[in-house]
Amino acid sequence: MDGATGFLAPDSSVAFECECCGVCCASGLEIFLNTVDMLKLRAHFKRPTRELIDKYLILEQRAEYGAYPLCLIRMGEGGCPFLDGRLCSVHPARPAGCRLFPVIHYHDASRGEVFAFAEDMDFCPGKRRTEERPLTDWLKENVFRDYEKAALFQKMMVPLSRRRAPDEVTRGLFETLFDFDSAADFPLAGVYDDGADAMAEVLEWTERRLKSILEKL
Ligand code: SF4
Ligand code: SF4
Repeated sequence: MDGATGFLAPDSSVAFECECCGVCCASGLEIFLNTVDMLKLRAHFKRPTRELIDKYLILEQRAEYGAYPLCLIRMGEGGCPFLDGRLCSVHPARPAGCRLFPVIHYHDASRGEVFAFAEDMDFCPGKRRTEERPLTDWLKENVFRDYEKAALFQKMMVPLSRRRAPDEVTRGLFETLFDFDSAADFPLAGVYDDGADAMAEVLEWTERRLKSILEKL
């Protein structure tokens, strides 16, 4: 790990063991969802995406990220709405950000794909452990491979972070990446499946739609 920045090189080690205390989930940290996260949550609740967004999530853009579409958990006074006592009530469908925490993954216009270790972790007892694991093992243990397509979509959208887009494009991006059930041509309408075949079908649909939106910009 680069101690000054928190960035992790591919051959880095991660010295961390979670104590499952639930403090991070209750602390209101921002948890961003990707497309695969949304598919898993949709299958977990077996409810249309719009309903999940209205109840648990926020779709937004931020000035510093231009037209890049963001989806994050709507944190309340008690932190995450999925927190039940000290435990995660959607554990099998928890977002990649929660699986990898305190390792953070994103794509950046200047650095490309970035892995970093969360900073300001004084609240977390897990950080005190000293046993080290290679970052590659950390990613494997937390099934990072499931998120390859979602990471590709994030990479495809990096140029959006430096520009603005018309409202209809923004609507199309949110629908394509997160609010699938609101799209007239969504291939899994009414089917709440996150098996490998269903996942592949939806991700192909998303990739096709995303390419088409980005090509027109
Ligand atoms: S605060 Fe740290 S130890 Fe506690 S649940 Fe979160 S990551 Fe695990
Ligand atoms: S989804 Fe689960 S693991 Fe993630 S912040 Fe919420 S309660 Fe914690």
